[in-house]
Amino acid sequence: MYDLHSHSHYSDGILPPEDLVSRAKSKGVTHLALTDHDTVSGIMAARTAAQQHDINLIAGIELSCLWNGVGIHVVGLNVDIDHCSIVKAVQVQAENRRIRSEQIAEKLTKKGFDNTLAGAQRLAGNGVIGRPHFAAFMIEAGYVKDHSEAFKKYLGAGKIGDVKQLWPDIAEAVEWIKDADGVAVLAHPDKYNLTRAKLKRLLDYFKEVGGEAMEVASGQQTKQLTGDLIRLVKDYELHASCGSDFHVPDRHWQELGVCGYLPKDVPAVWELW
Ligand code: AMP
Ligand code: MN
Ligand code: MN
Ligand code: MN
Repeated sequence: MYDLHSHSHYSDGILPPEDLVSRAKSKGVTHLALTDHDTVSGIMAARTAAQQHDINLIAGIELSCLWNGVGIHVVGLNVDIDHCSIVKAVQVQAENRRIRSEQIAEKLTKKGFDNTLAGAQRLAGNGVIGRPHFAAFMIEAGYVKDHSEAFKKYLGAGKIGDVKQLWPDIAEAVEWIKDADGVAVLAHPDKYNLTRAKLKRLLDYFKEVGGEAMEVASGQQTKQLTGDLIRLVKDYELHASCGSDFHVPDRHWQELGVCGYLPKDVPAVWELW
């Protein structure tokens, strides 16, 4: 069973790569992609653990991008993490995230929430900093009651803390991935709240710039949604990918391996490597 989208504590997941890999094994996953946001810091440790647990580790990265003012995630799978284009991608995105975290903190300060930058940085630890760390700090400080409230009021799409102007265009992310011999996958197309027409324009553009695959399953979802995305994959002659988008053990709908198997009538993304 393939699970081609997961996070470790090097981004906004909470498990170290070793624990992620052993958990995937215990859930019946045979092929796991570690796809941390804008970093490949966990890949080496995940690889070593994968050898010990006899599971296949696919090196991945989930790049934050911008398209038409919408924040979009492009996953790179089976990338050469030592290639200069990935080294560059990680450097560029780290700088973007550093500047962005200052901007997010500034906006939250204006809303009366103090010390969010230091708090989020502390909670991110050695991992790349992101909105979930701001959310976690806001919970800790008693500013909000949970992640859901933090995103709904302050950090989610369209809210003050949703700073995305710095992200590269999808075309650039696809180029970085392909230069490093990876496959570019449009992540969780259902999560962007796009109209049908706009989703189709996104797919037109993604194809045009060299995107090759799309996730038809992200975590637990309805059969209807999967069927719909499979039709789109066929229409656009893309390959299909699937992944849990695992972050933390207590979200059962994003548990490792939760996507199960891809249907046989669509070309699978792993046929590309
Ligand atoms: P960032 O990488 O800083 O843009 O943060 C995006 C991450 O925040 C996503 O990958 C999710 O893990 C998390 N996230 C996004 N929206 C929500 C939400 N509504 N509730 C909880 N977590 C979310
Ligand atoms: Mn995340
Ligand atoms: Mn994502
Ligand atoms: Mn993800």
